[in-house]
Amino acid sequence: MSSKEMTGSRRSGGTTKKNAFCSFCRKSYRDVGPLVEGPGDVYICGECIELCQSILEQEQKRRGPSKNLFENIPSPREIAAHLDQYVIGQTSAKRVLAVAVHNHYKRLSAEWNGTGDVEIEKSNILLVGPTGSGKTLLARSLARMLNVPFAIGDATTLTEAGYVGEDVENLLLKLLHAADFDLESAQRGILYIDEVDKIGKTSHNVSITRDVSGEGVQQSLLKMLEGTVANVPPQGGRKHPEQQYIQMDTSNILFICGGTFSGIEDIVRKRLGKRTLGFGGGQSFRNDADAAELMTHVGTDDVLEFGLIPELVGRLPVVSYLQPLDEEGLIRVLREPKNALVKQFEALFQMEDCKLEFTDEALRVISQRALERGVGARGLRGILEEVMLDIMYDLPDQERGSTYVIDESVVTGSRKLFTMPPAPQAKSA
Ligand code: ADP
Repeated sequence: MSSKEMTGSRRSGGTTKKNAFCSFCRKSYRDVGPLVEGPGDVYICGECIELCQSILEQEQKRRGPSKNLFENIPSPREIAAHLDQYVIGQTSAKRVLAVAVHNHYKRLSAEWNGTGDVEIEKSNILLVGPTGSGKTLLARSLARMLNVPFAIGDATTLTEAGYVGEDVENLLLKLLHAADFDLESAQRGILYIDEVDKIGKTSHNVSITRDVSGEGVQQSLLKMLEGTVANVPPQGGRKHPEQQYIQMDTSNILFICGGTFSGIEDIVRKRLGKRTLGFGGGQSFRNDADAAELMTHVGTDDVLEFGLIPELVGRLPVVSYLQPLDEEGLIRVLREPKNALVKQFEALFQMEDCKLEFTDEALRVISQRALERGVGARGLRGILEEVMLDIMYDLPDQERGSTYVIDESVVTGSRKLFTMPPAPQAKSA
């Protein structure tokens, strides 16, 4: 662009330029200093140039990552392979999630590029599975892979307006926080909402501070899942009339809802039992051994029967089940994921120039303890921390270059790893 700097009246032959002012902020050159002239008596001042620069940078930032994201949408197979690095087992949930997430971002890509005549509807996801089976971990690992903002909310903290508790908009605020208040990026993030089963109509968990049926909360969740422009209070808390809001469009946010849905087995069993009878009998799914296989058949009908309102269930068309982790699964969780607990402790020992090894038997005992606690893999960290506390306390005082083996006896406490107490440091007078 041909433009030259001018300095008001000092510009040669610039009689009319004496009163030149910035065409953007309308300030005169006397107030804002030199102006840059464009064709046809147009001027811009330094302040406005700076402002334009920052607007352009922001826009570039906004479009940049989005473009990259949509250029490289991983295939379902790639998504599942990535999840395999962090999440043990749960093969069917990984497949379901991989396809849903792939399609979700393809849909966003088509929208972004303005291509595609068919409007693809969003498929939010419902994960059903016991505590500590990896529901949150799956959602978190997905977000990390796709490099999109991720936040976790809890449906039980939500209340209908007017009751004590949080508004659903606060969940969106969490996502906005995770995106460093980059609205554009937050609007295509992933929001994991835990414990949606607890707001079901048949829930035994209703409290008097919440609407008794849970329907109001489900309705407000529904709106968010469907896609709405929500007024998010930037400071959090309950809404009040004088507050300033950030308008957040939820239509491209991927919602992954999770819940244990305890007792849903009976619903599935009843449904399938009926059907198999109708087809002349055969499988009956009556004992516990069949429970895992039975639950692979969990579907929207069962969730509906459990007490979620039909409209909400309709917005969660992808339902998948996560198996409880058994002893072998828990041992694998301890050892195999990229950031497995065992690997973390090994790394801590390495920092002290020592080597740490766990025997299979030690890991088995730890897994059994976690099973007893009934919180799945979630209990593993606490148990391992308990086992390792004294050891980690003494480690820095021990000799470098040694190898330490954690076996069953160390886990049960019948043998101490360090038998020699460290020599007390002599104090200099
Ligand atoms: P949920 O949401 O199903 O209650 P989480 O995903 O929060 O369970 O799991 C809690 C922790 O247990 C995770 O952070 C992870 O360390 C571990 N964990 C649970 N399930 C798995 C799994 N399938 N593979 C690897 N780690 C797991």
